[in-house]
Amino acid sequence: LLRRQEARESNARSYPRRIPLALTQAHGVYLRDSAGQLFIDCLAGAGTLALGHNHPDVVAALRATLDSGLPLHTLDLTTPVKDRFVEDLFAALPPGFARHARIQFCGPTGADGIEAAIKLARTATGRRTVVGFAGGYHGMTQGTLAIMGNLEPKRPLGGGTGDAHMLPYPYDARCPFGLGGEAGVDAGLAMIEQLLTDPESGVVTPAAMVVEVVQGEGGVIPAPIRWLQGLRRLTRAHGVPLVIDEVQTGLGRTGHLFAFERAGIEPDILVLSKAIGGGLPLSVVVYREDLDVWSPGAHAGTFRGNQLAMAAGTATLRRIRADRLDEHAAAMGARLTGHLRALQAEQPCVGDVRGPGLMIGVEIVDERMPPARPGLRPADGALARALQRRCLERGLILELGGRHGAVVRFLPPLIVSAEEIDEIADRFASALRAALA
Ligand code: PMP
Repeated sequence: LLRRQEARESNARSYPRRIPLALTQAHGVYLRDSAGQLFIDCLAGAGTLALGHNHPDVVAALRATLDSGLPLHTLDLTTPVKDRFVEDLFAALPPGFARHARIQFCGPTGADGIEAAIKLARTATGRRTVVGFAGGYHGMTQGTLAIMGNLEPKRPLGGGTGDAHMLPYPYDARCPFGLGGEAGVDAGLAMIEQLLTDPESGVVTPAAMVVEVVQGEGGVIPAPIRWLQGLRRLTRAHGVPLVIDEVQTGLGRTGHLFAFERAGIEPDILVLSKAIGGGLPLSVVVYREDLDVWSPGAHAGTFRGNQLAMAAGTATLRRIRADRLDEHAAAMGARLTGHLRALQAEQPCVGDVRGPGLMIGVEIVDERMPPARPGLRPADGALARALQRRCLERGLILELGGRHGAVVRFLPPLIVSAEEIDEIADRFASALRAALA
């Protein structure tokens, strides 16, 4: 199975390279491969499967929709399935934001949602340039690559793919200004303020700033709350729409239903995908109604009404809210973080353990090298890859991210139990010891 696919598929294939499995069955946090081995899935569709694989609510919602005789393809025409989806989503959003918000369905992927957000902000402001942040990830299309906070994927395209500025994204030990904690936050905000106010900076007022509250692919980096609040204050003061990319963080993963709630801020444009489709392709932008400058048909597309994804997404959101899976994610995340910090205390190659809720990153560092900055040794991507292989041997699927691919990312389904968290930590510790041996 694996070899046949390898021969046919493009060289661009990604996950199958480091997770060379042919998957045959799935339930909850578990996946089974064609050799019969059972795996705990801490990738969960890159953070998509909030309820895990084949959750009974999602399966029942899909079956009911299929059996109902409702049309499955409707462009963006109205159906009861769509009505329920929109009503439930608006009920879950912070009321102050929802009261004055509009929704637009986009193409099926997270990148489609970001494309729409950028286009809307450009249309509303009449400006071109978009600001992104170092380490950010918003997709692999031309427009989203422009604000990719990592040069590697855009190098073959001649560097950039659109009119964009990149700014530093502060985080304690890796503060781009070499300043930890509060001083780094102040430096980061001062830089943004200068760019927005000083004509000598050479930076034109941007159409939007696009930010992840917690960077995912960039290596699980939570932005300092005070920096997020400052970013919100400055963008508002200068009339720059703030786009918050909650493609990965949305729907409970960080311990809040939406990650921006952690900072007590609200976006001007919110982008949701992944979990919002319950495992099926869907993305939406939800934005302040005064930004709704689009003329009819200004953001058309054939596949903006995936009924099955809306049904699965509604079932997912209802279960998350009914069972308070955001709070459960916070508790399970704290439990896993506790195990990982204990491992850090005995293994110097565990440089950092971080992340809110069930979005946790473990930075693997080279313990033989002196710290590049106080507290953080250089990343060790080779050891992280060896560790990922050892995890796979022990039935644990994890993905890597961050600079040099040295951050092991834990994104288990939100329904993961305490026993499963303990099992994940045990397998990870055993894999780390084997990788070091
Ligand atoms: N934004 C964020 C924060 C993401 O994590 C991702 C995907 N990992 C995207 C956008 C792009 O989503 P997609 O892969 O569906 O285009």
